[in-house]
Order: sequence, then structure tokens, then C-alpha cells
Amino acid sequence: MTAKSDLEIARAADCRPIAEIAAKLDIPFENLVPFGHDKAKVSLDYAASLKDRPDGKLVLVTAINPTPAGEGKTTTTVGLGDALNRIGKRTTICLREPSLGPCFGMKGGAAGGGYAQVVPMEDINLHFTGDFHAITTAHNLLAAMVDNHLHWGNALGIDPRRIVWRRVMDMNDRALRDIAIGLGGTANGVVRESGFDITVASEIMAIFCLAEDLADLERRLGEIVVAYRTDDTPVTARDLKADGAMAVLLRQALAPNLVQTLENNPALVHGGPFANIAHGCNSMVATKTALKLADYVVTEAGFGADLGAEKFFDIKCRKGGLKPDAAVVVATIRALKMHGGVGREALGQEDAEAVSRGCANLARHVENVKKGFGVPVVVAVNRFSADTQAEFEAVKTACATMEVEAVLCEHWAKGSAGTEALAHAVVGLVEAGTADFQPIYPDAMPLLDKIRAVAQKVYRADDVVADKRVRDQLAAFEAAGYGDLPVCMAKTQYSFSTDPAARGAPTGFRIPVREVRLSAGAGFVVALTGEIMTMPGLPSHPAAEKIGISREGWIDGLF
Ligand code: ADP
Ligand code: MG
Repeated sequence: MTAKSDLEIARAADCRPIAEIAAKLDIPFENLVPFGHDKAKVSLDYAASLKDRPDGKLVLVTAINPTPAGEGKTTTTVGLGDALNRIGKRTTICLREPSLGPCFGMKGGAAGGGYAQVVPMEDINLHFTGDFHAITTAHNLLAAMVDNHLHWGNALGIDPRRIVWRRVMDMNDRALRDIAIGLGGTANGVVRESGFDITVASEIMAIFCLAEDLADLERRLGEIVVAYRTDDTPVTARDLKADGAMAVLLRQALAPNLVQTLENNPALVHGGPFANIAHGCNSMVATKTALKLADYVVTEAGFGADLGAEKFFDIKCRKGGLKPDAAVVVATIRALKMHGGVGREALGQEDAEAVSRGCANLARHVENVKKGFGVPVVVAVNRFSADTQAEFEAVKTACATMEVEAVLCEHWAKGSAGTEALAHAVVGLVEAGTADFQPIYPDAMPLLDKIRAVAQKVYRADDVVADKRVRDQLAAFEAAGYGDLPVCMAKTQYSFSTDPAARGAPTGFRIPVREVRLSAGAGFVVALTGEIMTMPGLPSHPAAEKIGISREGWIDGLF
């Protein structure tokens, strides 16, 4: 028997009308804004009306450092959510919305996989409810207003060489990374260099995902720094009077999207910022709404725990006053083998010793989440068909020394039936009530010390290195009143260090800070430790070449 593709499984799903899913959370139908039969936005007024209800329990799904072998945070989030529902806990999952552009490159979908998916997966991966369109448009309105301001005399005194606001679209298009605009004569504005980023890299995406409500969204949009004057003072979106119109464009999008899992359980899929130059979590509005509607909320953060969980805790939880109750650290035997030094070609061979060695990576993440952030942990081993019992035993042994439970999970092959044990383990952790969450650094700490705290306490680096230019820039941010912001680390996802080839648990390295950027609207300072790609390209044979519409009207070739 050949395994069914994610698309085939999703297509065979028994999707229930969205009102039925909403009813599981007691959301009255009039508070839904349906998009067809199986998608709906939950109105913001309704979400706001829930504010006096108690919060449910918050569970984060994170992972070891990713390898090309794959981990499975999204599938585990879906599988755990379904399994919690299966054992009688009213549970909602919160996921990021996938970016459309990468679907036509080489990436798989981002709506889970196997029997742990959210549906309708084609819609979720493509245009969905138009949120990314709204974000793209709001971003580009601001860009148009910047250039228009230059054209009509530049009353704000913007230095055209120091405009930091680029344009965005949701497509992988390397040809647009660096462009010249304003060509063709004086009627076409002022000639200057600019470029495009992919929509998920827009600061507006990060703002959208941290805003508490519409008023907070508009305030944050106003704070966006678009350019500097020759005297170094910033020019903001509010100076350009763009904040109101941008908020109008985002007004409908800010309401969270309700869909369902393959097992007809509720899922809020909303917002999707980059996990490098931004914080990589679904929207604050969705998470907080879910906490009011369900007893358990399971959510995912991007990349491994060194980046994703750290930012979830230090940026999202800090800013939103969220108190996570438990965390699941996902690992696979395959990835642990790679962390233990096995090459990709040899992953099919049993090698329990390599798994044991690779558990050094797992152990550091577990210790960080448990001791560093005070959130109790269970390890989920996402089972692939080639895994052996001896290899799983190696993980169990390693986890015993970390004083955490390791649970074998088969949601990908079996749905919630394969994740029940994980659900019981998570309930056990939550009900024990041992969580004592704290961020890794306080608000009032110099920005460079915050970067150092993450580098030393989370990555286990010896130190950070930042040249004078970077230190001066941080001092300037502090002088301008941004010193209390958290830092958002942009680092390779593949290693604790900045060397993507350094798997396992590297030591004896330093973290170079090459550049720092202010995201004043989002409310963090980005520290770049290497080249970060904000506009991906397509591979030599993009997936788009194989995508089409079948005679029966189905989408072919998408995942
Ligand atoms: P992440 O969220 O960590 O990026 P996903 O959960 O999206 O990972 O999974 C990545 C890919 O790996 C998906 O295409 C998914 O179908 C596949 N996958 C995940 N778990 C398994 C598994 N146990 N067996 C086979 N494929 C899997
Ligand atoms: Mg994912």
C-alpha cells in the first residue's frame, strides 16, 4: 500500500459546516463572518466581549533544531489538539497562516500532514480569507505614501537615501530584491533604490500578530519608522498620516480565522510572521480568543526552541501577559541521528548510539525551557516509519536523565489515536501546576545585555561580539526611548550557534551581531547574526511547473 499524499487525505476529509465547529466552542452563529462553508472569521466584537472569562491552559509546541530530516511541530500541534479533544478536554489549536509564495517553490504545505492536518488545506495554503492581501496592501499603501511625499516636496525632510520602508508581496521573486524606482521623468516621482520583501517579512505582519485589538493595531502602525532625516531623527507612519488608512485596510483581517482539523475540532489559523526577523507566532488576538473559548490551547512557534520558543516567551508572552502552562519539545529519531553526526544518506539505518549522541541537542532545549523559562516539558517523539524500538529506547534513556517524559507519537499515521499518550502527559504536567514562567531577561536592561542574555543562557555562547557601529546604533535606540523593548534574534535555525553545520550541542563559540534594526511598531529590536533572506527565490524546477487543475476540478500537484 502506498501512503496517501497530504492532499489526498485532506481531500477525503469529512469537513463539517463551520457553524458546527463554532458550536463546539459555543460561539453563536451571528458572531461568525463565514467565508464559504468551512471557514469563518470570529468577530472582533465577540472576541472582546469574552474578556472577563477565565483563561484556559496554554501549551506551546516547539522543537529541537531543525535538520533536513524534518521535525513536525505543526503535525504534533494538530495531533495533540485532536487527542486532547479525544480525551474530553475542550481544546483549540492556534497556528500560523502559511505564506502563499513558497507553495510554488519547493516547500510542502504548512497546514500539517498525514492524519494531522487542518482543512480546507488548499484554501489555507493559498488565498485563505485574504489576510495576507490586506497586510500586503497596507504595507504598500505606506510605501506609496512615502514616495508620494518625496514627490510633492518632502515637507518632512526625509533623507531619500535613508528610507527603510520597502515594498512587499506574497511571492518568491528574487528579481525584485533590489530595484530602482521613480524612473521615467519628473512626473514619476523621485528616483531611488528600493526592493521587495515577501509579505510575511513585513513589519506589519509582526504588528498584526502582536496587536491586542484594533486600537492597539492603529497605534503600533503609527510607530513604524519609515525613514530618517539627515539629522538622524526618525520619520514615522504617523508623521505621514498613514496609520488610520492602514488600520482600515486591516480591520477585517484582524478577526481570527476559524477552520477545523481532519477530526472536526476547532483551529484558529491567523497571522504568520517570519521566525527570524520577526517572532514567528500566530496572532495575539487568536491566542487570546482561543484562551477564552477553550480549556486547552495548543500553539506552535517557528523553528527550534532556541529561536521559536525563546521569542514566544520573551516577546509574545511578555508583551501579552501570557502564562504558558506546559511545553512540548518535538524531536524525530531521524533528526536526532543527524544531530548525532549521521549524514542524510544513512538515515535509514538503525543507529541508537547516534540517537543518544544527538540527544545532546534535545537536552539543551529541554533544560532551557524548563529551567530558563520555568515551563514544564514533555518530549514528543514524532514517529517515522523507519524508526526502531532501540532508537526510541535511546531517547527514553536520555530523557530520564533530563527528568522529562518521552512519548512516542503517531498522529501523522493515525491521527488522535496515535497521540493520546501525549495528551495525557500534557494534562498531567498542566494539572501538576508547576509552571512558573519568567522571561530570560527583564525589560529594564541595556539592549546589548539582552542580546547577551539570550546568547549565553539559551544558545550557551561564550559571548556576543558587536563592533562599534552596532553598539552605537543600540545606544541611539536607547537614547530615542526604545531601550525597554525586547530583542528579536535573527539567527540560523539549524544550530545553537551561527554556524548551520554545527549540529548537536556546540560549545566554545561567540555570537556576532552584524546589524541591528528597529521594529518600533512591532515593539522589538532585531539583532541580525548573519545574512537573512527576506525575499526568497524559486528553485530551478519550481513546484508551480507541476501544479494545475484536474479534469474533475481538483487541484493537482500542490503537496
Ligand atoms: P514543522 O511544523 O516542524 O515545520 P510539519 O509538522 O509541518 O513540521 O511537518 C513537516 C513535513 O513533514 C510535513 O510535510 C509533514 O507531512 C511531514 N511529516 C511530519 N511528521 C511526519 C511523520 N511522522 N512521518 C512522515 N512525514 C511526516
Ligand atoms: Mg510548522
